[in-house]
Amino acid sequence: AIPVITIDGPTASGKGTVAQKVAQHLGFHYLDSGALYRLTALSALRRNTPLDDEHALAKVAEHLHCHFDGMHIFLSNEDVSDAIRAEVVGNTASQIATLMPVRQALYGLQLGFRKAPGLVADGRDMGTVIFPHAALKVFLTASVDARAQRRYKQLIDKGFSANMKDLSMDLKMRDERDTHRSSAPLKAADGAHHLDTSEMTAEQAVQQVLSWYAA
Ligand code: C5P
Repeated sequence: AIPVITIDGPTASGKGTVAQKVAQHLGFHYLDSGALYRLTALSALRRNTPLDDEHALAKVAEHLHCHFDGMHIFLSNEDVSDAIRAEVVGNTASQIATLMPVRQALYGLQLGFRKAPGLVADGRDMGTVIFPHAALKVFLTASVDARAQRRYKQLIDKGFSANMKDLSMDLKMRDERDTHRSSAPLKAADGAHHLDTSEMTAEQAVQQVLSWYAA
C-alpha cells in the first residue's frame, strides 16, 4: 500500500511548512487540503455564490478547476497562490468547511493525491476522516501567541497588512469553529502523535516527524 503521513492541527500551527519539508525529505507527494477549501471559498466569492447555500457551494467544490505545481496553486490556469492566503478567503473557507456537502464534494479529490511513492497530507481531518489508515498520524499544535506571530509574518511577507490583536482574535474564532463543528471537527486522530511546536523551529519539528516515521 502507498504510505500516507497525516499532519493535522489548528490554523497557523506550522503544519503546512512541516508537512512540505517532510514530503521533500522522503520524496513524497504533498496535499495541502486547506488549499482546497480556500480555492472553493475564492471561487464562491468571485461568483457571488450565497455562503448559506450549501448545495450551490458543493457544486463549486465539485467543479473546481485547480492544479498544483510545486509551490504554486492554480484556479482555471490563474496562479492564485497568494490570493487564497488572504484573511477573507481563509475566513470564508472556515465557514464553508462546516458544510457536509462541501466536505463530501472534496473527498474524492483528496484521495486522488495518494500516489507512489507516498503522500504527506496536512489539514484538520486527514487522520480522522480522509486517511484513517495512515502509516503515521501527527497532531501538531502551538500556542495562540506563537501561531499569531507566524500568521503575522506570513501575511506581511505576502504583502498583506495585518495586526497581532485581530489575528489572535481571528485564530481563536477559527479554532472554536473548527473544533466545535459537527462535520469532521478538528481533533487528534486515534493513535496520533502529539507535537507542540510553540518552542520549536520548523526543522526540529520535521526531524521529530521523520524519526517517528522511521521508527
Ligand atoms: O489550513 P488552512 O488555514 O489553509 O485551511 C483553511 C480552512 O479550511 C480552515 O480554517 C478549516 O476550517 C478548513 N479546513 C478543513 N479541513 C481540512 C483543511 C482545512 O475544514 N482538512
